[in-house]
Amino acid sequence: MQNVQLSWNLYKTELEDTVEKHCKNCGHTALFTDTHIRRHNANGKNIYRFAIYKCEKGHTWNKKLHIYKTYSEHVETVDMLQEERQETINNISILPYENAGLTELTILLESVYGLFRIDKALATYISEWSRTVIIEKIKKGSIHLNGQHIKPNAKLAAGDCISIYMR
Ligand SMILES: [Zn+2]
Repeated sequence: MQNVQLSWNLYKTELEDTVEKHCKNCGHTALFTDTHIRRHNANGKNIYRFAIYKCEKGHTWNKKLHIYKTYSEHVETVDMLQEERQETINNISILPYENAGLTELTILLESVYGLFRIDKALATYISEWSRTVIIEKIKKGSIHLNGQHIKPNAKLAAGDCISIYMR
């Protein structure tokens, strides 16, 4: 095994992770962060899907994502399962590749929705490598974007190709 190619779909937007908003409990504007916990509430024939946000003091705010009628519930359920599956596909363990003597790992970004920095994206999806390790590798030139030496804060776009050189 010398070169392995993977495909990733990045769809989470960093921009949506925080919202500046008045907090009733704090009594002033606070920065709310997405907990990535989702909740469904049924109210008569409507089902509401919420994202749970928390301010720095831990007060919650439910951001309404979707309202849908009970008869179309299954459609939304399928949609959610797909999201979860995509997330697990992106997650990789680098150790088996290292152990197998792989020299190069290529990751093709099929779709990118939102703003992603290369160092953060790799730290999120490669389980054994911390962001510090990844920044080190980018600076050393053992991680390239589209064949170029890049900075750790380089932004990712659909069609981009990340090359990781193992040795
Ligand atoms: Zn608060």
